[in-house]
Amino acid sequence: MNFTHSPQAPIAVPVTGSEHMFPIHRIYCVGRNYEEHAKEMGYTGREAPFFFLKPTDSLIYVPNGTTGELPYPSLTQNFHHEIELVVAIGVGGKNIKAQDAEKHIYGYAVGLDMTRRDLQNDMKKQGRPWDIGKSFDHSSPMGPIVPKASVHDLEKAQIYLSVNAQDRQNSHINKLIWNIAETIEHLSSAWELQAGDLIFTGTPEGVNAVVKGDVMHGFVEGVGAIDLKVV
Ligand code: MN
Repeated sequence: MNFTHSPQAPIAVPVTGSEHMFPIHRIYCVGRNYEEHAKEMGYTGREAPFFFLKPTDSLIYVPNGTTGELPYPSLTQNFHHEIELVVAIGVGGKNIKAQDAEKHIYGYAVGLDMTRRDLQNDMKKQGRPWDIGKSFDHSSPMGPIVPKASVHDLEKAQIYLSVNAQDRQNSHINKLIWNIAETIEHLSSAWELQAGDLIFTGTPEGVNAVVKGDVMHGFVEGVGAIDLKVV
């Protein structure tokens, strides 16, 4: 086939303990899905989950045991970290019920929903789309995907992020307002999920800024860790 320019290579993430790569379809994100984070953003109460997307090529893969480099983005003075549990969809579907959601999950990963908070806040104030605050280049670092059979007691898992060895975010997956199954139910009522979709499930409280030179260390207990330096 004669393309007008080279097509984008598939974007894929290694699967822990296997030779397989997991090709990424879309990146969905859940907004304000931990109560204490919703509060720090100025909201209270349980609202229906809401979603936004990031470009698949905003993904930066960071192998375990390495420190990835995260470029400080343009236009922002307030570049925030959001540590998140990532769910990898292995079997697509629409209108998936929460009780059936588990069958659609391939595995889990640790990711960061990096945010240009000042630009996001400007857009919120004006009622404009969040893309410039959320969906910029290199905004989605993540570690390898761990097959679900290797992940145990995820509901009890700690989710954590430090910056320069100082605690920033520290919570538990059981604090999710909308749990993973409920999130899949809601998301799949709005979009038909496909194998290869990722869901960034939301961040706990403690979001804050990083600057060039900062080193982040994050983990979800039982899933993995991610290390990044802002450059
Ligand atoms: Mn987020």
